[in-house]
Amino acid sequence: MSFADLGLSDELLKTVTDAGYTEPTPIQASAIPSVLMMRDIIGIAQTGTGKTAAFVLPMIDILAHGRSRARMPRSLILEPTRELAAQVAENFEKYGAGQKLSMALLIGGVSMGDQIKALEKGVDVLIATPGRLMDLFQRGNILLTGCSMLVIDEADRMLDMGFIPDIEEICTKLPKQRQTLLFSATMPPPIKKLADKFLENPKTIEVARPASTNINIAQFVVPVAPQSFEKRKRLRQLLGQEEVRNAIIFCNRKTTVRELNKSLKQHGFRSGEIHGDMEQPQRLAELELFKRGDINILVASDVAARGLDIKGVSHVFNFDAPWHPDDYVHRIGRTGRGGATGTAYTFVAPDDAENLQNIEKLTGQKIDRLELPAPAEEERPARRTRRDRAPRTAEVEVEVNTAPVAETVEEAPRARPARARREEPRREQPRHDEAREQRSDDRRRDRRRSHQDETPDDGGWNGPIPDFLKVSFGI
Ligand code: ADP
Ligand code: MG
Repeated sequence: MSFADLGLSDELLKTVTDAGYTEPTPIQASAIPSVLMMRDIIGIAQTGTGKTAAFVLPMIDILAHGRSRARMPRSLILEPTRELAAQVAENFEKYGAGQKLSMALLIGGVSMGDQIKALEKGVDVLIATPGRLMDLFQRGNILLTGCSMLVIDEADRMLDMGFIPDIEEICTKLPKQRQTLLFSATMPPPIKKLADKFLENPKTIEVARPASTNINIAQFVVPVAPQSFEKRKRLRQLLGQEEVRNAIIFCNRKTTVRELNKSLKQHGFRSGEIHGDMEQPQRLAELELFKRGDINILVASDVAARGLDIKGVSHVFNFDAPWHPDDYVHRIGRTGRGGATGTAYTFVAPDDAENLQNIEKLTGQKIDRLELPAPAEEERPARRTRRDRAPRTAEVEVEVNTAPVAETVEEAPRARPARARREEPRREQPRHDEAREQRSDDRRRDRRRSHQDETPDDGGWNGPIPDFLKVSFGI
């Protein structure tokens, strides 16, 4: 099957070839002809299988005819996060280069004024997160009655983020006569219900078993002690392997993201962080550093990293085993993209046994356990070493090495009772704090729920097609 068999225009075929795509992915091959025939579609395919182009390409051809009117977008794409919205916009820019399609992005954390100006002019494609769209809708800045095409992307993530009620409301504002496309990696019952309610006679395309993981990803479970300093030590050992070119490290909590990034930096790693508490420009700046290779480690929370299209990530680490098994599939889907191979390590402490069981149940696959030799002794950050009053004769500390390499992985395990005893009381405290912080995080999140992507406007936006969209997403 080639792109030429799918019914796309010659102009678009040329753009696709220029983009370096030789053949459509299975979801593209099945979805594109049906979208062009104006069918409603439910597209279920795992992360990294090219779902974006499966709707962006036919939309470009469909929207090539007709004109936009003020405040009445002709099509609407809903994305769960700002980053995903920005990525879809980038896809339109890339493939729609030859066409004169106008586009606006409505995402939280950026100035509303320019977004409203763009809408006033009329847009062919509106890409939005549900929270910001609802805000503008309620202010009367937008009319969805001329919107004949709706895409609900990453539907399972929308569900995780509590956006389903917003989406339901948005669906009722669109004309009944429209085409609706829904894409998701998994199909939990509430998404099925949403589809039954708002799609008409949809064609369901299921490329792989829901929640199956990519065969190009080598997966390992790494048994670890629950203490975070032990986990960090294991992580440094694995990051020190030669084949780790770059890595995304997922944590369950924002506090862990911050602490881990700080610790990695102290150990000489080139790392950065991305989580939901960061302002939009800050997140994009960090992402840009990672894409450019200025940093090669990105510590991330699920919300911030969902669906990010970053090519060529060699490794994914689950520093915490994810609470939701779906998140496992999404997290490890950051590697092994576009036919490349990747490796995913999941740290599992005794308390995480149930999380792991759920993951293995969902993916229908038992993950290999990796038994590691004890990590070699490594240089500690100065602050820690000063506090350390253990007899120095008992250990070899490499003074010169600031590189993040576990010197001799095969080194025999050492018994270090003095340090272990001292660290015991210290680790109780952070765990307690973390739990408390998490509870208050959860409360904050509950309060924000349907407006999770909103933060106060900060004026960091320069118009509907901002500069950051012009950067290349390849590494
Ligand atoms: P999904 O939304 O399914 O998670 P994306 O649409 O983000 O996946 O695409 C994943 C990656 O695959 C992107 O880097 C994209 O550029 C690439 N890709 C998409 N279609 C093709 C194709 N036909 N051939 C090669 N690479 C592709
Ligand atoms: Mg996607």
